[in-house]
Amino acid sequence: MTALDNYVAPTSLEQAVVQLQELGEVTILAGGTDLMPQSHAGRVKFKRTLMNIRRIPELRGIVREGDEIRIGALTTISEMMAHPLVREHLPLLVSAGDHFASDQIRNAGTVGGNICNASPAGDTLVPLMVLGASVELASKPDDKLFRRSMPLPEFFVGPGKTRIAPAELLTAVRVPIPPQGFVARFHKFGTRPALDISAISIGVGGVLKDGKFSQVRVAFGAVAPTPVCGCATEEALEGKKLDAATIAAAAKAAQDEVHPISDVRASAWYRKEMIHNMTKRILEDVSANH
Ligand SMILES: Cc1cc2nc3c(=O)[nH]c(=O)nc-3n(C[C@H](O)[C@H](O)[C@H](O)COP(=O)(O)OP(=O)(O)OC[C@H]3O[C@@H](n4cnc5c(N)ncnc54)[C@H](O)[C@@H]3O)c2cc1C
Repeated sequence: MTALDNYVAPTSLEQAVVQLQELGEVTILAGGTDLMPQSHAGRVKFKRTLMNIRRIPELRGIVREGDEIRIGALTTISEMMAHPLVREHLPLLVSAGDHFASDQIRNAGTVGGNICNASPAGDTLVPLMVLGASVELASKPDDKLFRRSMPLPEFFVGPGKTRIAPAELLTAVRVPIPPQGFVARFHKFGTRPALDISAISIGVGGVLKDGKFSQVRVAFGAVAPTPVCGCATEEALEGKKLDAATIAAAAKAAQDEVHPISDVRASAWYRKEMIHNMTKRILEDVSANH
């Protein structure tokens, strides 16, 4: 672990973004479930200042704002799964939480930390992409608080790399409330059914009306340096009836459009096979149950 020069624990968003701007070299600590193991393993070096953001009330809470649900960055995975607004409008995130680590990690790990850690296998990322989420960022470059938002897919640059600026804090993720008739599925596959990092993950969502699937969103995890859109798969599904021919074409499109690597979790060949088979299985399940 790197020795620290400074530790700060701001108690408001305003204080945090001023300190980020003034101190420059800052490592942000939320639940610490990624940061601490990575630091112990020597994969991450702390910067001069460690900023504990857990005392900032503005980063907490889940609220409805118009047609969106705003999930504060410090929301833990357990809080997300239990929240009535999430359970009513965004059950896909509950399903993602069900696949996520153990209770201990779910109680400490935050949604903001999962996003900022930017692992291609992060379990909230694929479902949030399927739901059309955006991140909300805050900074204070001069005397005014500056906020911006960015669609989630644009936020990721590579493993552990995002478009967040050094003096910025991720304050929340905003998720549009899905339209009537929206159905979605998330599936994660690893070598063990629980407590495992994904070898692949898939999210599929869309509106099923009169037997046709529209407004389709597909995303894949752990098959590229970032979570990725399944754009060709979406095209194969958009406006179609979910019959055997459409499902076969979509599964083939999914297999063809991912270009995974081989690593300790799975070979590239196996990942492509799993993407094919799991896409097919998810779509058959959607078709059979709606
Ligand atoms: C045993 C174990 C099992 C795990 N299993 C899973 C799993 O099944 N699925 C999964 O997806 N992950 C898993 N993880 C990883 C981890 O728990 C999650 O990614 C978690 O959501 C990280 O949140 P955190 O609050 O602990 O982040 P931290 O560790 O506190 O931070 C992670 C990174 O994000 C930055 N950061 C955090 N919050 C902000 C913010 N608001 N603004 C700007 N930067 C910020 C930090 O500086 C750091 O770089 C596991 C970890 C462990 C140790």
